[in-house]
Amino acid sequence: MKILVVEDQRFTRRMLVRFLTNAGYAVEEAQDGCEAMEVLAREPIRFVITDWMMPCMSGLELIRAIRGRSLDRWVYVILLTARDEKSGIVEALDAGADDFIHKPFDNEELAVRIRAGQRIIELTERLERLAMTDPLTGLLNRRGLQETLAQSGSADAPLGCVVADIDHFKRINDARGHDRGDLVLKQIAELLRGLFEPDGIVARVGGEEFWLLLRNGTPAELCERVERARSIIAATVLTDGGGDPLNLTLSFGITAVPALQGRDITTLFKIADGALYASKQNGRNRVTCAAPDACP
Ligand code: GH3
Ligand code: MG
Ligand code: MG
Ligand code: MG
Repeated sequence: MKILVVEDQRFTRRMLVRFLTNAGYAVEEAQDGCEAMEVLAREPIRFVITDWMMPCMSGLELIRAIRGRSLDRWVYVILLTARDEKSGIVEALDAGADDFIHKPFDNEELAVRIRAGQRIIELTERLERLAMTDPLTGLLNRRGLQETLAQSGSADAPLGCVVADIDHFKRINDARGHDRGDLVLKQIAELLRGLFEPDGIVARVGGEEFWLLLRNGTPAELCERVERARSIIAATVLTDGGGDPLNLTLSFGITAVPALQGRDITTLFKIADGALYASKQNGRNRVTCAAPDACP
């Protein structure tokens, strides 16, 4: 875990950094709140230990900025303070500090308070992961895909947006029951993951509908990769955990571009969805590559 130490007094800062480094934490330093906000904008740090009195942006102002809208993640903050009157503590917690510790700090106390904070961060991260994951297949869900898209990759590289939907899946449920349908869905998810990860991202966004983001290849290559995946899946024998083995097919729509170049990724998925509709209309078990660019 990485901790950001924010302290204007060089000596105290050095002491803190040495203590944290020896305790096994990675450490980043800032000499005031302004610099701290720059570091937090640049690096995904979730743990901050900050001094209160500093020239540019006090500890309280820093906490308010962290809790404000400028950061997209939750950060745990310990405020270091020489002021131990009750009103100071009330003010600090009210501003959004998670904990506080008095200067000069006691090593053992600081160590256990950091561990307490670490537990909360780990829990938060676990909940965030759960909120982004589809429980049946373990794939990203719609929210997970959106979060990942927001952070993912260069706008200058080729990119393929794919919408895939299982053909006639309702028949599987009707003939074999929902539980067996679930097992089949899991296998399809596993196949898609094996075919497209780790270069691409696979998400389950609807019952039997998947969205894929593909990278690493020209637009034409990305379209070919989808075509190959379609034929592999169609030729794969699946099991429902009991009854007869079965084959399923998927219909795909893809739009691939040489670079995002200011385009909205959601728009590309809408175009891919239109292409999927065409695949369904034209008999299913096929890939339709749609404009804007470069799809053969
Ligand atoms: P099409 O080729 O037009 O896509 O036909 P389809 O039958 O796949 O499409 P339709 O939208 O009519 O039905 C989708 C079915 O997927 C209906 C629903 O019962 C099933 N389904 C959706 N989510 C789940 C799930 O989590 N588990 C199971 N077992 N079935 C699901
Ligand atoms: Mg100070
Ligand atoms: Mg379907
Ligand atoms: Mg569907």
